[in-house]
Amino acid sequence: MSDPLLETRNLETFYGPIMAIAGVSLKVAEGSIVTVLGANGAGKTTLLKTISGAIDCRKGQVLFGGEPIQNRDPDEVARRGIGHVPEGREVFPFLSVGENLTLGAWGRSDRAGIARDLETVYGYFPDLRTKHRDMAGFLSGGQQQMLAIGRAFMGNPKLMILDEPSLGLSPLLTRTIFAIIRRINREQGVTVLLVEQNARAALEVADHGYVMEVGRVVMEAPCAVLMESEDVKEFYLGKA
Ligand code: ATP
Repeated sequence: MSDPLLETRNLETFYGPIMAIAGVSLKVAEGSIVTVLGANGAGKTTLLKTISGAIDCRKGQVLFGGEPIQNRDPDEVARRGIGHVPEGREVFPFLSVGENLTLGAWGRSDRAGIARDLETVYGYFPDLRTKHRDMAGFLSGGQQQMLAIGRAFMGNPKLMILDEPSLGLSPLLTRTIFAIIRRINREQGVTVLLVEQNARAALEVADHGYVMEVGRVVMEAPCAVLMESEDVKEFYLGKA
């Protein structure tokens, strides 16, 4: 791999005495989609929060474009080009769809670029264009997920990190949203780190995958290889 866009080295993150991330090292090549699979409580959310600066690590490094960014302010991490789509969407329910998207561009002053990216988001998610003036809190779960992705895209990220975008969505909506994630990656050149419990959907969209168990990486391989792994089939794809 050429120099990765994102790398974590021996990352350790604690909640008080509880070690949630126990020395995680991973690499995300520029232009790729990388997925991190794992059951409930494996540490996936903590990993993303540590990368985005929402939680500090106790040890290790997060390198973005080769520069250490661990334990920086989340605003600074976002300005450097990491867009975090958090678990549970966290859209602003009392603001309109359009206002949520505009807020995603808070760090930017290139008005023409912002207008172009808004059009791109509405092109990918026609539902959001239709509901431009509606309050975000009235959207369906799937539409809120679209809005959360669109809002992160409005920050003009080099890397999007997505926390369980399929959570609570029907298989059909999950396919729709994952297809757009792939288009954003291929058409817009945004590198993607995707955390998922829905292993099948994630392995279909991603290039490379990591499997986490209790705070550690226990397996790493191209997705085509992981899909054929007996352990992955048994524990994550629901068949032996
Ligand atoms: P999920 O899919 O349920 O979000 P996850 O793989 O994202 O799971 P984390 O949420 O990162 O896992 O949790 C990792 C570990 O840290 C778990 O043991 C969890 O109980 C613990 N943990 C998470 N958040 C906190 C917190 N705020 N305080 C204490 N422990 C926490």
